[in-house]
Parts: sequence; structure tokens; C-alpha cells
Amino acid sequence: MDHGFTSVILKSGKDQSVKRYHPWIFSGAIKKITGPVNEGDVVKVYSNKNEFLGLGHYQKGSIAVRIFSFQDVELNGDFWRAKLKKAVSLRQELGFPNNDTNVFRLINAEGDGLPGLIIDYYNGSAVMQTHSVGMYFLREKFAAVLKEIIGEKLVAVYDKSEKTLPYKAAIEPKDGYLLGSAKQVQVKENGLVFKVDGESGQKTGFFIDQRENRSLLETYSAGRDVLNMFCYTGGFSVYALRGGARSAHSVDSSESAIQLTNDNITLNFPDDNRHKAFTADGFEFLKNIQGKYDLIILDPPAFAKHRDTLPRAIQGYKRINTRTFEQIKPGGILFTFSCSQVISKKRFRETVFTAAAISGRNVKILHQLSHPPDHPVSIYHPEGEYLKGLVLYVE
Ligand code: SAH
Repeated sequence: MDHGFTSVILKSGKDQSVKRYHPWIFSGAIKKITGPVNEGDVVKVYSNKNEFLGLGHYQKGSIAVRIFSFQDVELNGDFWRAKLKKAVSLRQELGFPNNDTNVFRLINAEGDGLPGLIIDYYNGSAVMQTHSVGMYFLREKFAAVLKEIIGEKLVAVYDKSEKTLPYKAAIEPKDGYLLGSAKQVQVKENGLVFKVDGESGQKTGFFIDQRENRSLLETYSAGRDVLNMFCYTGGFSVYALRGGARSAHSVDSSESAIQLTNDNITLNFPDDNRHKAFTADGFEFLKNIQGKYDLIILDPPAFAKHRDTLPRAIQGYKRINTRTFEQIKPGGILFTFSCSQVISKKRFRETVFTAAAISGRNVKILHQLSHPPDHPVSIYHPEGEYLKGLVLYVE
């Protein structure tokens, strides 16, 4: 057994999922920790029979260890550099950035073998969010290595981990630049332009994960009256206008989101009077849309962030979907999403099916959606597929 790092020994039988490369060790699976351990420390994970299983970051909480290597390797600058390099190369292979799109996800946590680390790229400036203390401790190294790999196409790296890190009290993270600075940037997505405020926006500033779904929506928009619920930056509305929508209405409860939506509409379609934005509560707004719309997007925030809020979240999804099914025009199309990681694809589907049944409408599934390839999912970590969407035809 290695004495350089503290060892975490699993209970008998609890090694099965790690042997299948699942990167999370739940606290209940641990039999013994052999020495002192602090949040963010690297630990070595062993089975009950003393077999090496992986190297990971330790953290208090239900996920106690996040494994970043299933091999017993030496942890040095080269190790992390190789990981980041692989992630950047994959994006290049996927064609990012390109002439039409310069906003994409650079590092997708478990999907890139870097659990707890998210980095999004916004036309030269990167926004990082760490979800584990171990990754947070490495933030400066990551910024430096990324600069080395990407070169002049990276001018700023902003660390925005204040809200994503658990156990804030212990380390008191403060958001700030690790490299350069760039408060507001303009990005291009499929040829459309968006204002992004990485510092004060939600998440890392833009919901990049909806890129392909927005594109799909565009193809359904011609001649339709579109309602974009929970619009945030107005992304779906901008695509709908380009797709030839007859009208597009955007709704969000946040005034700054509505401001951003209006700005983004103006950037792309100045003097276009097909669009209107409403600051309103989504649940209220949906009470009174009878027969007004024939293309509706429901992309609410993650109603459930933890398992204990799941039942309420399910009720929330059921309610907004039921109201929509009841009132969408005949022949209407619904794009409905959930971005809660704790709600499985199956559970989301059942919830939407229940809503459809309550409305009594005849509903057909046209597409099943997720996130695009710059948000890769490890095949061994199905929880990484957090975005679930259905495109439904309502007769
Ligand atoms: N569809 C967006 C992302 C949606 S994020 C995109 O493609 O970019 C969820 C949005 O829901 C946030 O902007 C948040 O302000 C808004 N929101 C949260 N609760 C709400 C409520 N009760 N009513 C209306 N909007 C709400």
C-alpha cells in the first residue's frame, strides 16, 4: 500500500461500480480511511481485498471521493496537462471553435475524466466552475496550463466557484480572474450573436448545452407563434426569429434575464417587431395561454438540485407541462426539458407522460434530446447525462 497518500478502503462488494469505472465513491461505501484526510486531498482507493482502484479527491458529503485516475500514476504537472490537452483536442476534432461558433464547453467534468471541473470557452475568455475542493485547489495550475495549450486564443480565465463549491466556510472562495480580464464578451453561436456576462450571469454565463436544441427549434419555427418559457438569454427566441417565426414571446422571472433577452434580440434582429418579452412568474404566465401558441419551449431551472427536493420538483415539471398540453394550439409542438441531474431520463419521461395523460391530448414523441458533443458523457457515468429533452407533437 502506498504511504504517500491516505488510503480509502471500501467495504466488501462496494468495489463493483469503481471496477466498472464509475468515478464516485459514496461515503456509505467506505470501510476505513487509514490516516488524516482533509477536503480536497488526493486519496488512493482500495478494495476490501487491497486491490488498487483509483486516485481521487476527497470531500465531505455523500460523494466522498471523485476519482480522476483508475491507474496508479504519478501525479505531476504532466498528468494534468495531458488531461486538459486531450479535452481541448477533442473539441478541435469536433470543430470548435469555427467561423460560426466560438462558444463551447472546454472541460465537462466526469465526461473528460476531470470530476468537479467545468470550463466553458467564450470567444477567447474561459469561465471555470469547480464543484470539488480538490479541483478548486488546482485552479491556478489549470489556468496556466490552458494558456500554454491554447495560446493567444485564450486571453482571460475567470474562476466562478463561489457558488458551486460546497463547504464554503472552510476555504472561503472568492470569484476572480486567474488570467487577464474580460467582463463582457460577445460570442457567436451558429452565426447568431449573444452578449455573455461570465461574471454576473447564471452558471458560467450562457447555456451552451442547448446549442443543438436551439438549432432544431429553428427548423420548426417558420410561421409559428412561439412561446419561450424560462428564456434567460433569449437563445431559443433568437433562433425562432431566424427560423421565420410569426411571433416570439419570451418569459422569465428575472428582470436582468429579460434585459439580456431584449439586447440579444436587438443584436441579431434590430427593428424586428415580432418579439416581445415578459417579466413574469412562469407558473402564473402558463395559466393563461389558451390557444395562443403553437411552438412552446419549457426550459425551467433545475427544480431539484438534491434528492430530497425531488418530489416537489416532479410536481413542478408536471404542473408546467400539464398547463402547456392543455392550452397549446392543435398541431402544436412542445420542446420540454429538465436539466436536473437527480432526475433520470426515465423519470422525466414518465412525468411528461403523466402531464400529457392529464390533459387528454394525443401526443407523439418526435425527438429525444440531450446535450451536444462538447458536453461528452462518460459511458460509465450515466448521471453525466443531465439534460433531458423531448420534442412532442400535440394533435
Ligand atoms: N432556456 C434558457 C436557460 C433557462 S435557465 C437558455 O436557453 O439559455 C432558467 C431560467 O428560468 C433562468 O433565467 C431563471 O431566471 C428563470 N426562472 C427561474 N424561476 C422562474 C419562474 N418561477 N418563472 C419564470 N422564470 C424563472
